[in-house]
Amino acid sequence: MQVKQYMLGKGYSWATPYYIATGEQGGPHVMVVAGIHGKEIASIRAAEKLVELLNQQKLHISQGKLIIVPIVNQEAYRKRIRGVPDLNRTFPRKKKQAASNRLSAAVFELAQKHQPEWYLDLHEANGLSQKDNKVLGQTIISNSGNPAVPAVRRVIKLMNRSIKLQDQHFNIRLRELSGSSRTAAARILGARAVTVETCWSLPKKVRIKYHLEIVQHFLREAGLVKANGVYLAAKVRTVTP
Ligand SMILES: [Zn+2]
Repeated sequence: MQVKQYMLGKGYSWATPYYIATGEQGGPHVMVVAGIHGKEIASIRAAEKLVELLNQQKLHISQGKLIIVPIVNQEAYRKRIRGVPDLNRTFPRKKKQAASNRLSAAVFELAQKHQPEWYLDLHEANGLSQKDNKVLGQTIISNSGNPAVPAVRRVIKLMNRSIKLQDQHFNIRLRELSGSSRTAAARILGARAVTVETCWSLPKKVRIKYHLEIVQHFLREAGLVKANGVYLAAKVRTVTP
């Protein structure tokens, strides 16, 4: 397995590093992005941890390719804000339509270049979906009819089996969100597209752990990681540099 770092938007104020881990054999491509919203820290830390695990060869990609953008919106991240405009409303809404923001355009071009079969977008949200079906905290979201849906249900089942507190259980949500990176990946690239939302009010360490586990379950579903290769016991870094 090889891990390489690249720069998206090199020379621009919004430039951000991304990473590609390539397995020994060809196979599906998976793209993982975090930090489309700059203050959703646990999702960002989980993506960074994923890169760290790959670099340390603790997580092994046996086939295919994994593309990770840990902090999409660097400017919003530096200010710890969601971002203005909301980047997750600026992705292309239909084929042949450009993104309405240069940063989302660059992220989408990267996705188009690698044609991922799977697209995972990591976020954080308010509330616990188990207690209130109108909130998005602790949900995994896909688009109606998306081929990822059966895998989403399996991953949720696995996660909830390991989460003792029932209030923190994950639930599936199916929704169209035009202009979001997930809906663009689903509708324009035909990817199995998923958004992961942890709940803000849980301890950061727990949220990072949930993201990390969910991503690895999907990597296994995609065939990039062998069933016994999932690094679920990851010790997570919670201190912001
Ligand atoms: Zn978000």
